Amino acid sequence: MPRKSKIKEKTDEELEVKKSKVKFPQLLRGMKDILPSEQKYWDFIYSKVFKIAQDYGFEKIDTPILEETSLFVRSVGKETDIVEKEMFSFVDKGGENISLRPELTAPIARAYIEHGMVNLPQPIKLFYWGPMFRHERPQAGRYRQAHQFGFEILGSLHPVLDTQLILLTSILYEELGVDFTIQINNLGCPNCRPDYIQLLRDYYSTRKRFLCNNCKKRFQSNPLRLLDCKEGGCRELANQAPQIVDHLCEDCRGHFVKVLEYLDEAEVSYNLNPRVVRGLDYYTRTTFEIWTSEIRDHQTELGGGGRYDNLIKELGGRPTPALGFAGGIERIISRIKEKEIFIPEKEKPDVFLAQLGESARKKSLRLLENLRKEGIRVTESLSQDGLKNQLFLASKLGIRFTLILGQKEIIDKTILLRDMEDGSQEIIDFRKIGEEIKKRLVKKSKKFIEEEDKIEEKK
Ligand code: AMP
Repeated sequence: MPRKSKIKEKTDEELEVKKSKVKFPQLLRGMKDILPSEQKYWDFIYSKVFKIAQDYGFEKIDTPILEETSLFVRSVGKETDIVEKEMFSFVDKGGENISLRPELTAPIARAYIEHGMVNLPQPIKLFYWGPMFRHERPQAGRYRQAHQFGFEILGSLHPVLDTQLILLTSILYEELGVDFTIQINNLGCPNCRPDYIQLLRDYYSTRKRFLCNNCKKRFQSNPLRLLDCKEGGCRELANQAPQIVDHLCEDCRGHFVKVLEYLDEAEVSYNLNPRVVRGLDYYTRTTFEIWTSEIRDHQTELGGGGRYDNLIKELGGRPTPALGFAGGIERIISRIKEKEIFIPEKEKPDVFLAQLGESARKKSLRLLENLRKEGIRVTESLSQDGLKNQLFLASKLGIRFTLILGQKEIIDKTILLRDMEDGSQEIIDFRKIGEEIKKRLVKKSKKFIEEEDKIEEKK
């Protein structure tokens, strides 16, 4: 039964200080316990994701947290930050190279191939919710175990699906109540991107000395990433760099124009942003990100996605164009808190069951279950002895009615029903408890509605 949790969440800084002082087993760096008091945010986001997924015909998929390391090397790309520096990889007892998944799209592409989903009517629409792991430098809003939800559409090249994915994402963020903007780009395809990359290299080759150390390395390995570096100097250079949308092949340009036309038709506002390059190798054509409206370093990004038309083929499947989106749950929660967005609390129990003496305690075990079966939300403190303590707890929880079961009531086959608001008590026939409580709950809700109406009338 829900109770207001007293366990207070420690800030990341407090946890770090504690870690340096104490030698007992500790939470790992960059990891987080999700305490009872936090669960309402998770439930709230899940309920919205689940509803959108249902409304738009996405079915849930769960894949294992561990995968073969080669899955991510082949999909995310050998020279990306994730694969180069951030994967939790190890050799297991059977000598296999395995990794904690650093993202969920590649595992879903693998599942699509392994389960022959290509033989089902296309496109396949899937959604997921779960943890991913990246060994990044922990800082505000960046964890080593973070959680993502996502939507994937596999088996169609049609640009209307790019728009539909962007549209449903924007509806979701609107329903979550967070402020956001949509940033869109197009990364071309293997036909046009190599020529653009060459142009980019030409542009940066004479300006290399102005790049940060990280970007100096990226110049060789992953030049697209030069465009989304957050360092001041790199940013300025990126603003002047050639833009890929000016160098798309005819097919990619046609696709992009259609996506934008559909977006205009659906009245979705967006910014064209040549710096949305994502960072994983598998992306082709449309890429997009959801940003907070205030731009603040890495915490700005609340989610991102795009097309990955060649991924399934590269993982050994039949050529299958596809696209997807992943949202960062911790980032959304932190935005919800900053903006003080109202999250409904779980409803309180209807009754508290207080028991006195060992026989009452024994009888309470079944009684609780019988009440639950009758649809009454009931809570208790079975391990407590004194009535005073139990009544104190019931009133602290703000519960309207308390049932009191003692030795005398067991002999008389009755139970006491106490109205916690005015302290009045009634003796009730033990066999009619459920019925009597339900009557009072209906009365209580009618009275509540009448009072609400009176307040409305006065207004
Ligand atoms: P990505 O798979 O990198 O596109 O990430 C999708 C979303 O997950 C990002 O937009 C962030 O909101 C969130 N995210 C990515 N990495 C982290 C992290 N280390 N800690 C918390 N959230 C993250």
